[in-house]
Parts: sequence; structure tokens; C-alpha cells
Amino acid sequence: MDIIDKDIIIIGGGPSGLVCALEASKRKLDCLILEKGLLVNSIYNFPTNMTFFSTSQVLEIGDIPFISHSDKPSRKEALEYYRRVSEAYDLDIHYRQKVQSVKKEHFKFEIRTQDSIYRSQYLIVATGYYDTPNLLHVPGEELAKVKHYYDDAHPYIGQNIAVVGAANSACDVALETYYKGAHVTMIIKDEGIYEKVKYWIKPNIENRIKEGSIKAYFSSQIKKILPTHLVVDTPEGEIKIENDYVLAMTGYRPDFPFLKKLGIAFSDNEHVPVFNINTFECNVPQMYLAGVILAGNNTSKLFIENTRHHGKVIIEDIQQKMAAIYA
Ligand SMILES: Cc1cc2nc3c(=O)[nH]c(=O)nc-3n(C[C@H](O)[C@H](O)[C@H](O)COP(=O)(O)OP(=O)(O)OC[C@H]3O[C@@H](n4cnc5c(N)ncnc54)[C@H](O)[C@@H]3O)c2cc1C
Repeated sequence: MDIIDKDIIIIGGGPSGLVCALEASKRKLDCLILEKGLLVNSIYNFPTNMTFFSTSQVLEIGDIPFISHSDKPSRKEALEYYRRVSEAYDLDIHYRQKVQSVKKEHFKFEIRTQDSIYRSQYLIVATGYYDTPNLLHVPGEELAKVKHYYDDAHPYIGQNIAVVGAANSACDVALETYYKGAHVTMIIKDEGIYEKVKYWIKPNIENRIKEGSIKAYFSSQIKKILPTHLVVDTPEGEIKIENDYVLAMTGYRPDFPFLKKLGIAFSDNEHVPVFNINTFECNVPQMYLAGVILAGNNTSKLFIENTRHHGKVIIEDIQQKMAAIYA
């Protein structure tokens, strides 16, 4: 098997990986992205008709303007935008290359995918969080009718669906499926809709619940999922409700076992990785972390908007280290 040698390898071709690669490209550094799926794979797998909550301007990277039809872009517009950015900077990306293991020897990383071996002096990990859903951990979760990802309302027309969760995604999914003709029940472990739900969504979902168009069980949790029913623990006791689909919109988390395998240490029980806040280098020398993985379990704290500077900070540090070696 040939070994492909690079100065910098980035794991993950999401917005954070792209920012790092284009900052390296600006400085003419030898850099490659390894992406297990497609370009901006997470965004590609977002709900088909979603609209970002951020304006297009704050999703811009690499000084390339993001023009969208309205102030908040659609998923389709974002896909087109990030495609144009990667094309404009002629980024080197190897697709369908899932990194399986990383070994460090003699100040170099050896990175293995299913069919290739790569080597680099610097490694940037930008693997995001969208591949690992927070599970319900209840019997029946393995049934095909239980989904942790939502794409489109069409399959749910006329169906009894349970939406689990009360944050932005859960509220979006409950509203979209209700408007398309699904019979929607929300199952919410807290006493109300999450207080930080976007201001243009919160009153809508609360009013639909108040008028009874969408049913909601607060302070409640699913106990068991059966092929035709759910068993739900409510403050009034256990109830059984008819159910065709469960849409568990309970969030996602970084792939902690994978990150631990790379040698990354974590500072507290929220699984926040150990890293230098001035450089984003982690406890493994020459290994950097970019994007939402830096938030640990608090994934809602970091998003595209407020992580766009990571790439510049990381690449500047790498460039300084390289200059020091060759000085
Ligand atoms: C429905 C929804 C709406 C959102 N709206 C907004 C918004 O309006 N504004 C905003 O700023 N943020 C928004 N976000 C959050 C934003 O999408 C994420 O913060 C952002 O995608 C994180 O970027 P990232 O590059 O760190 O991770 P990701 O975008 O998740 O990219 C990580 C990449 O790494 C790849 N990867 C993972 N493991 C491996 C491996 N082992 N080998 C190779 N490749 C690997 C993945 O395939 C993926 O392409 C939204 C999120 C969701 C779910």
C-alpha cells in the first residue's frame, strides 16, 4: 500500500475542516482533507427543507461572499456555497476515506483509512458531532420506526408520530410534520419547550400545543417502544399511545471513543477535550482540534458562526512551528 505524505492532514470535510484547509491554502502549505463521506457531509444529511438560523453572512468562510435568496439560507444554498468555496481554493479532499486509526511515531502521524495510509507532521481533527445521536436507551429503540435523523415530512402524512425533545430541531420537526398532515405528539422530559428555542419558532409551537393541534406530554419520558404503541411515563402515571413513528430529536455528540483512541484527553464530565485556548493544540503535540468537537457534550455552544476563526488560529500556529523548525 502506498503511503501518502503531507505536511498537514485534516480529518473531516465540514465547515471547520474547510476553514483550516483554505487557511493552509492561502499560505501555500501542503494540506489534505480526509472525509469519510461527502463534502460538508453533516449539512448534506440535514433535513431536506431546513433553513439555517444564522444569516448567510455569518456562515461565510474564506472571504467568499454567501449570497442567498433571503437573509437565512437554505440547506441547498449552503451546499452550493461550500462547494464553491472548496472549488475556489482548489482544496485537496479525499472523499469516502473514513479515518480508522492514528498512530504517532517519530514526530509524525500515521493515519489509516480502509484502503490507504497517510502520513503527516500535523493533524487537525474536525470530525463534528452529527454522526452520533444521543440515544433514548429504552427497549424497542432498535425498531425501524425509530429515527434519530429527520429528512422530509412526506413519509409521515396521516401517521401517528411521536417527536421526542423540545429544542429547535424537535420543534421544527413537530411543526413541519403537523403542517403536512401528521398526527403529532411531543414527549418532553422537561416542564416546557426549551427556553432558548428561536424566537420565530417558540410562540408557534406553544400556540399549536395550547390549541391542541399538537399534543404534548411534559415531564414525561418514553419507557418502551412497541411496534404499534408507546408506553410513556407521565406525571399522571403510565400511559399507552398509538404510534407509527418515533422521531427522536435528542441531539448528537462527538464520537468520544474515536477521539479517545487518538489519545485526546478530556477535562471534565461534559467531555470537553483538553486543549490550548490560544492555539487549539490538544494534549497530543502537533494535533489540533477544530469546530464543534471542542464543546464536548455542550454541542449547542459551538456552531459554524462562532468557530470560523479556529482555522486561522490553528494554521498560524502550525506555520510558526514549521518556520521554527526550518530556521
Ligand atoms: C439542523 C441543524 C441546523 C443548524 N443550523 C445552524 C446555523 O443556522 N448556524 C450555525 O452556525 N450552525 C448551525 N448548525 C450547527 C452546525 O451545522 C455545526 O456546528 C457544524 O456543522 C459543525 O461543523 P464541523 O465542521 O465542526 O462539524 P461537521 O459539519 O459535523 O463536519 C465533520 C465532518 O467530519 C467527517 N468525519 C467524521 N468522522 C470522520 C472520520 N473518522 N474520518 C473522516 N471524516 C470524518 C464527517 O463526515 C463530517 O463531514 C446546525 C446544526 C443542525 C443539526
